[in-house]
Amino acid sequence: MKSKPKALYIHVPFCEHLCYYCDYPRILITKQNIDLYLDKLEEELNLYNPEGVETIYVGGGTPSALPLVAFKRLFSIASKYSSDVSEYSVEGNVENLSKEKLLILKEAGVNRLSIGVQSLNNQTLKAIGRRHTKEEAIEVINLAKSLGFSNISIDLIYGLPNQSLENLKAELDLYLKLNLNHIATYALDISPHTVFGIKKLTPISDELSREMYDYILATLRKHGYNRYETSTFAKPGYECKHNLTYWRNEQYYGVGYAASGYINNIRYVNTYNLTAYLNGKFIGEINKVTPSNIAEYFLLTNLRREAGFSLDHFKNHVGVNFKDMFKKEAKALEENGLLHQENNRVFLSDEGMIRIDYVLIELIKNL
Ligand code: SF4
Repeated sequence: MKSKPKALYIHVPFCEHLCYYCDYPRILITKQNIDLYLDKLEEELNLYNPEGVETIYVGGGTPSALPLVAFKRLFSIASKYSSDVSEYSVEGNVENLSKEKLLILKEAGVNRLSIGVQSLNNQTLKAIGRRHTKEEAIEVINLAKSLGFSNISIDLIYGLPNQSLENLKAELDLYLKLNLNHIATYALDISPHTVFGIKKLTPISDELSREMYDYILATLRKHGYNRYETSTFAKPGYECKHNLTYWRNEQYYGVGYAASGYINNIRYVNTYNLTAYLNGKFIGEINKVTPSNIAEYFLLTNLRREAGFSLDHFKNHVGVNFKDMFKKEAKALEENGLLHQENNRVFLSDEGMIRIDYVLIELIKNL
C-alpha cells in the first residue's frame, strides 16, 4: 500500500483536569511548555508533509484547553495542510470552548465539532469528575449552532455505578431534544489507572449494561440515527468521514504525543513520554503490516462497521478470499446468529455487534 494517506490526526494531550474514568493519553496542562509542544508538532507535521489530506481531526486530551494564543497558533500550523480538506473536526470541552475559540475554528475552516458532553445529568457529571453542568453544555452547543456549526457530535457515557435504566432514559430524551446529527456512546470501562480504577469501583452488571445498550440502540434508531460503528450513531450523511478511515483500515497520518498512524504498511504509535516527544523523539513503537497480520487488522477495523465489508474489498486488501480463509469459523458464527454473509458482504448482526470481541477472537484465533 504505497498511496498517500487521505486523513490526518493531530493530538493535543493537555487537559485542565483529569476525569475520573479517563484512560486516554492526556496530561494536566498546568506548567506545561505549550509553545515547545506546538514547535514539535509543527516539526513532526512538516516531516510527514501531509499535503492533499481530505480529513483532519484534532483530538485530545482537550484541544480547547489551550490558551487562546496557542489555540490560534495550532490552527495556523495546521492550515498549511487544510486546503483540500472536506471534513475538519475538532474536539472541545464545554468549559473552555469559548466564543473566541469557536470563531478561530470558523476562520480556520473547521466544519465539524465534537463536544465533550458525556452526560446531561448534573449528578452524573459530578460523579465522573467533569467540571461543567448540563446547562453549560446546552449553552455551548447553542452558541456553536448560532455561529454556523451545523455538524456537531456529542458523546454519551453510560453504565455508571448507581445509574439506573430510568436515569439513562431521561438523559437520552434530553440528547434527542438537542437534535444533533451525531452521537457517540461509550459504556463505562473501569481501567486500573483511572481514579475509578484506583478506587476499585464496581461496574454495573452485564445484564444492566446490555439493557442500556439495547435501549440506546432502539431509541436512536427510532429517531433516525444509524449505528454506523458498534457504538457510534449518525443521521444519514453525517457519519464521521475521518473515523471511517480507521474503521475501513485505511491509512492516516497521526502527529502529536501518543498519536498513532498508518503509512506505507507501517503502523506506528508515538511516544507516551512527553519529554522524549519535546526532544523530537516522536515515534514510540512501530509495527509492520505483514501478510500474516493483514487479515487481523482488516477484521479488527472493518467488522466494527454496521456495513461490514465486501468480499472484493477483503480479497483486494488481504490477497485471499474471506470464504477460503475463514470457512469453518464464519459458518459457526453464522449458525450462532452473530455474522451474516449476504449480497457479497460480510457484516455482524445486532447480537454480533454486542459480542464483537468474541466474534473477532473466534475469527482470528487460528491465524
Ligand atoms: S475525558 Fe477528556 S477532558 Fe477528561 S481527562 Fe480525558 S481527555 Fe481530558
